[in-house]
Amino acid sequence: MEKARAEETARKVVDACADCDVCRHLMDTSCLMFPELYRLWDKEQASGEAISSKELRHLVELCNFCALCPCPNIRADLIKAKTELIDRDGLKFGVRTLEDVARVSKICGFHPPLVNYLFQNKLTANPLKAMAGVHPQRNMPLFPKENFDQWMQRRNPKALSSPKKKVAYFAGCTGRFLFPEVPKAVVQVLERNDIEVNVPSQQCCGMPSMLEGDRDLTLQFVTSNVKHLVKAVKDGYDILCSCPTCGYFFKTVLKAGAYYSKEYQLSVGADDTQIKIPVDQNKGESNAQQFVSLQKSIYQSILKDDGYFSEINAHHRIQVAEKIFDVGEYIVRLNRQGELEKEFETFATNIVYYPPCHLREQNIGQPYMSLLQEIPEMKIKAVDWSLYCCGMAGIMGFKKDFHTPSIQLGSRLMEKINEINPDRIVTDCLSCRLQFNQLTPYDVCHPIEVLNEAYCQGDC
Ligand code: SF4
Ligand code: SF4
Repeated sequence: MEKARAEETARKVVDACADCDVCRHLMDTSCLMFPELYRLWDKEQASGEAISSKELRHLVELCNFCALCPCPNIRADLIKAKTELIDRDGLKFGVRTLEDVARVSKICGFHPPLVNYLFQNKLTANPLKAMAGVHPQRNMPLFPKENFDQWMQRRNPKALSSPKKKVAYFAGCTGRFLFPEVPKAVVQVLERNDIEVNVPSQQCCGMPSMLEGDRDLTLQFVTSNVKHLVKAVKDGYDILCSCPTCGYFFKTVLKAGAYYSKEYQLSVGADDTQIKIPVDQNKGESNAQQFVSLQKSIYQSILKDDGYFSEINAHHRIQVAEKIFDVGEYIVRLNRQGELEKEFETFATNIVYYPPCHLREQNIGQPYMSLLQEIPEMKIKAVDWSLYCCGMAGIMGFKKDFHTPSIQLGSRLMEKINEINPDRIVTDCLSCRLQFNQLTPYDVCHPIEVLNEAYCQGDC
């Protein structure tokens, strides 16, 4: 019985979503999992032959935790099934190579010109990709000569006599090791606005390994990050992320269930009969917080802290989640407070902005849209984020078995962008950027790079 636990968890998802049926049409073009779930269900109904264990295992592989579907418990169960699968059957070598983005980037970054040559040359690229489980037609990113960490070490930080604020910047692996121009622009824009930037010790946020079902590696990363970020919070720093996936992970995924934990309930004075929930779930640690009180005997079976990260101190998870901001969100706040320098140069360009899925899940709107609209002569049009998906799904788009569906999933978005025919594509997500680089001829950059350019026009 124990052996089939992953399949049982996946089966529960099938039964719940087949019974509900909302996502049959709601998620038919922006997710690979739901069309397959309903195909399997319909086949089972028509033939009377139960969905097989193999089909259930394949089904959970199709979820990339983009969070576009309506029910957080359904995607959490898909990850749970995947984790149970890996706990039982182990990870494939290729996945183990790809899931630790920082490690693979550090290895490949030891001699970037050589590694780039090996990956661009077909004779050497194909065997290397095969070894790592990468599809032969997936373009590999070029490794930069200098990564963000190296740049931070060699540069002379801007001397700020009386900084307005101080932030701890969680740069994220893809920015640090593949696209250092993004975290560099973050530092430059913040320092230009008299904000002191500290980069605390950091590992991968944990999302890629969590998606692959590798619980041990994920907990190792997250435990270390939480320790360093809690220290930064205690030292008075706000935490900033420029990667929407890291931001979504810290704000939402890490915190899930923490308010229902025993330690949190004790700290807010809940007695044995009640569960106290903060009214503003972004300020659960604040002394001025107000609570709603629910009867414990009714809600304790659903309101509990038994998720993926429940073994990490609940207060620490909440402290990190409540002090973390997307860089765009933070700059918009500065702007509202009249503290943003707005001496932008004229920048006559035609931009299409693609807001990524994990930004939507942070419930902060599209902060960069309002900022970029302040740049003189810039024309900017946003793609509707509820209709289009780039299809890359983090490291999944690299995988041999997922490359073709990934391209198919992203094709509607690429058609839309080709119709607009912009001078460049702007998106906060570096995984989307990889897909745009593969499938379109346009330059792609992060909105913070555009802001930085508008400040200094080639003299950054
Ligand atoms: S994810 Fe939620 S809304 Fe969608 S089909 Fe499943 S249960 Fe229904
Ligand atoms: S999280 Fe995204 S990929 Fe996973 S089931 Fe929901 S919509 Fe599909």
